Amino acid sequence: MIGTSIAFELAAENLRVVVLDRQQPGREASWAAAGMLSPAPDSPRDIPLTPLSRESLKLYPQFVAAVEEESGESASYARDGAIEILLAPHGEIDRDQKAAEYRLLNLAAEPVSLGAAREREKSFTPDARAALWLPEEATVEPRLLMAALLAAAQNRGVAIRSGCRVANLLLDGNRCLGVIAAGEKIEAAHVVVAAGCFSGEVAEGAARLARLLPTRPVRGQMLALRHEGFRLDRVLRSERGYLVPRRDGRIVAGSTKEEAGFERRVTAAGIRKVLDAAIELCPSLAAAEIVETWSGLRPGTPDDLPILGPTDIAGLAIATGHYRNGILLTPVTAKLIREWIVLGRTNFDAAAFSPLRFDRALSSRAETA
Ligand SMILES: Cc1cc2nc3c(=O)[nH]c(=O)nc-3n(C[C@H](O)[C@H](O)[C@H](O)COP(=O)(O)OP(=O)(O)OC[C@H]3O[C@@H](n4cnc5c(N)ncnc54)[C@H](O)[C@@H]3O)c2cc1C
Repeated sequence: MIGTSIAFELAAENLRVVVLDRQQPGREASWAAAGMLSPAPDSPRDIPLTPLSRESLKLYPQFVAAVEEESGESASYARDGAIEILLAPHGEIDRDQKAAEYRLLNLAAEPVSLGAAREREKSFTPDARAALWLPEEATVEPRLLMAALLAAAQNRGVAIRSGCRVANLLLDGNRCLGVIAAGEKIEAAHVVVAAGCFSGEVAEGAARLARLLPTRPVRGQMLALRHEGFRLDRVLRSERGYLVPRRDGRIVAGSTKEEAGFERRVTAAGIRKVLDAAIELCPSLAAAEIVETWSGLRPGTPDDLPILGPTDIAGLAIATGHYRNGILLTPVTAKLIREWIVLGRTNFDAAAFSPLRFDRALSSRAETA
């Protein structure tokens, strides 16, 4: 999603762009995602991300409109808000605290009565203690968006080369001249590494690249349910899991967060965890049919923040490490990378996401030692 969206943006600038993917683009984390567009932080570590997330959420309608217009395909974007349900005995206190925290971050958050929440969504558990209404949140169907984006990028002249694994970058001193992919040298004025949790692979054997790409996989298991008569119109979530409606009536339930290396297996314990959270949130889903299970590898980073922007190697930019928010952050990532490549600068303060920050952290640690 990240690489193809950057290509789509750059092609509008009349640049010749090629996407190199070792398989069909869009079959990794972007295939697995739930598609929640939620700028609300999951933990205090996410707080520096909020301005970027809000900016991306704001860009979403125009980004989707451009993709849909260029491709003629729908991405099923919907801005229907989300409801957070609190289940702990002190749920109301937690809810009010959360609402205050979100508002400090300029996120719309309204504590509502359980009755008011039930007018929007009927099916959540009678054991709920409190509800928080998040009116600005939205959803998109990642698999539909990806298909539309690929068609849209190709319509703009982007070449998509599937089955083309990038083995290495072509470096000449402090300049990146292109890549070595499928045994071939491919030269380019600009190279953007956007290989998700595999991004570190293109740096293998080159310490000067490895410091820029400290990505790791964080597995998430998911499943889809279908239940006759069950209706969900917007995202429902609790502290333990979430439910996201799909246009075809399926309900997507997620997700685990596991350090399991590059192992993409779906496990009994993982699925039990996701199902327990789903049924706790909406007990009637106990009778639902499980129609699909899958897992995906989120691109994690040491500080949970994305790695975005130019590097100290001329001609090399990075756009990866979007961890749990890559679908949300797609429009802003594509816009920032386009600005860096075309204008050489951007007005958005993205210093916190610089690929050089890990270097700085290393050298300040060395100085302290
Ligand atoms: C279970 C789960 C649920 C999620 N839910 C959400 C959500 O609700 N909202 C949200 O915003 N985000 C969500 N995410 C996170 C989101 O999916 C990711 O952050 C995002 O998809 C990352 O996109 P990407 O393009 O960087 O990586 P990927 O989609 O992983 O794509 C990387 C691409 O690089 C290619 N590649 C790898 N190595 C090479 C190589 N050497 N040469 C050539 N190509 C290569 C791969 O084939 C792949 O196509 C979720 C993730 C998971 C796993």
